[in-house]
Amino acid sequence: MANKAIIIGAGPAGLTAALELLKKTDIKPVILEKTSDIGGISKTVNYKGNRIDIGGHRFFSKSDVIMNYWQDLFDIAPSPKDIEKNKKWNLTDDNVFLERERLSRIYFLRKFFDYPVTLNGNTIKNLGVFRIFKIGISYVWAKIFPIRNEKNLEDFFVNRFGRVLYKTFFKDYTEKVWGQSCTELSAEWGAQRIKGLSVTKVISHYIKSLFKTKKQDIAQKDKETSLIERFLYPKYGPGQLWEHVADLIKEKGGEIIMDSEFIGVQNIDSKSFTVKYRQNDSIIEMDTNYVFSTTSVKNLINAMQNVPDNINKIANGLLHRNFITVGLLLDKLAIKNKTQIDTINELIPDNWIYMQEKDVKMGRIQIFNNWSPFMVDDESKVWIGLEYFCDPDDDMWKMENQSFINMAIKELERVGIIIKDDLIDSTIIKMEDTYPVYFGAYDNFDEVRNYLDKINNLYLIGRSGMHRYNNSDHSMLTAITAVQNIVDGRIDKRNIWDVNTEQDYHEEKGEE
Ligand SMILES: Cc1cc2nc3c(=O)[nH]c(=O)nc-3n(C[C@H](O)[C@H](O)[C@H](O)COP(=O)(O)OP(=O)(O)OC[C@H]3O[C@@H](n4cnc5c(N)ncnc54)[C@H](O)[C@@H]3O)c2cc1C
Repeated sequence: MANKAIIIGAGPAGLTAALELLKKTDIKPVILEKTSDIGGISKTVNYKGNRIDIGGHRFFSKSDVIMNYWQDLFDIAPSPKDIEKNKKWNLTDDNVFLERERLSRIYFLRKFFDYPVTLNGNTIKNLGVFRIFKIGISYVWAKIFPIRNEKNLEDFFVNRFGRVLYKTFFKDYTEKVWGQSCTELSAEWGAQRIKGLSVTKVISHYIKSLFKTKKQDIAQKDKETSLIERFLYPKYGPGQLWEHVADLIKEKGGEIIMDSEFIGVQNIDSKSFTVKYRQNDSIIEMDTNYVFSTTSVKNLINAMQNVPDNINKIANGLLHRNFITVGLLLDKLAIKNKTQIDTINELIPDNWIYMQEKDVKMGRIQIFNNWSPFMVDDESKVWIGLEYFCDPDDDMWKMENQSFINMAIKELERVGIIIKDDLIDSTIIKMEDTYPVYFGAYDNFDEVRNYLDKINNLYLIGRSGMHRYNNSDHSMLTAITAVQNIVDGRIDKRNIWDVNTEQDYHEEKGEE
């Protein structure tokens, strides 16, 4: 058998593994992808010329390896600042990144607040002096009398921000994303997700930004993730970059088999495997020397034979949150950009908005015009994505598509962001297994990991593949590390699991 690797999944991790194998080894990668789309949860869906992400995807990383990797694939187009304001960008090149200024704000009490929350005139005006006073008192209280034994995420937040600030700006959004009370989520998880972010850092960042003169390098290594101000974004969304990578893989001799669902793997002698996949109504078997898996750990275990009962039980107890996004094409938004009225449609400048209002289920709103004007077919229209998070057995997940869209429109009207008469078109995308959760059977995940790590030439990579809340940079780094292990003849896989724990962490809780 020729040296072959079967890679399950054509998302960022699977595609990076394939490209790395082609660059560094003589192993032929064969990717099995169960859908008709390239990019996994980093794909971009084209709806009648309007492109929508599965949640806007920023490209930034503290890893030089990844920043260079991306810039080897696409050049960075001239900065928007160099282009005349409000004129349509005249970019003849397609394979480029736009460098974007980040703006995301919190929508609460039907008003906008800076994100991260800053203590400025706007915040004081919007919250009112009494609320500010309560926030201040509870912050000081939390500093003088911290909860000694942080038992859960609520304790973690309260110790860092005070109870009132936590309830005002953190509690509801976190609970919408994870579907659990913050008292059910672990404090260590908070420590991993938002280590380093504190009221002091937010204030010092704000003060520094007032005196900022020099443009920073795009990697912005000295910043907490939530404070990242600039990022790269492909002209036509993240899916464009991954489709380009898929083309490169095919050009270099790799294979991508679409609409093919991996359903079985048999480990023959720990050096070769037989993989089974379903294509239309046929079940096909293929021998391979290596397997890279980005499918969920549960799927992988269920596709294996003779798995011990305890491992089966833990793997089948690993949970994910699902994601639903509703795309709305509108003539305009009901809320206007008050500071700059000459913008097209008086469009507010945000990339995305955190929906902190309690009377809606929506978690965030993406404004795709502000990610890239090329995401929108007719730039005079407004193209937005409303985001919802749910469990597979939630009513929201089971709801019929048009009823869901109607519910989303009503929510957005209720909080005053749109008027229904401005609606031109709508669509809905439902994605399974988007957020690996760190509770339930996850407490015993190491047993599954140890079991799978012992199988030579089987590599768990990526986000669902490792049941880890990895962003695309870390998903890619796990793939790069796994391939390097093959090149180096290294059997120990711990360095793959070290990605995103030992390295500079570059992401904040719920902040993708
Ligand atoms: C709402 C949201 C916003 C995000 N924002 C950002 C961001 O701003 N920046 C960032 O860097 N990252 C972001 N991420 C994270 C990023 O999307 C992931 O890190 C990345 O897509 C993970 O890559 P992956 O290849 O591991 O998995 P995936 O992207 O999930 O790809 C896995 C692929 O495997 C396929 N597959 C699964 N099972 C099988 C099977 N049995 N047989 C065949 N194929 C199978 C799937 O169809 C899929 O195509 C965000 C994620 C979400 C959900």
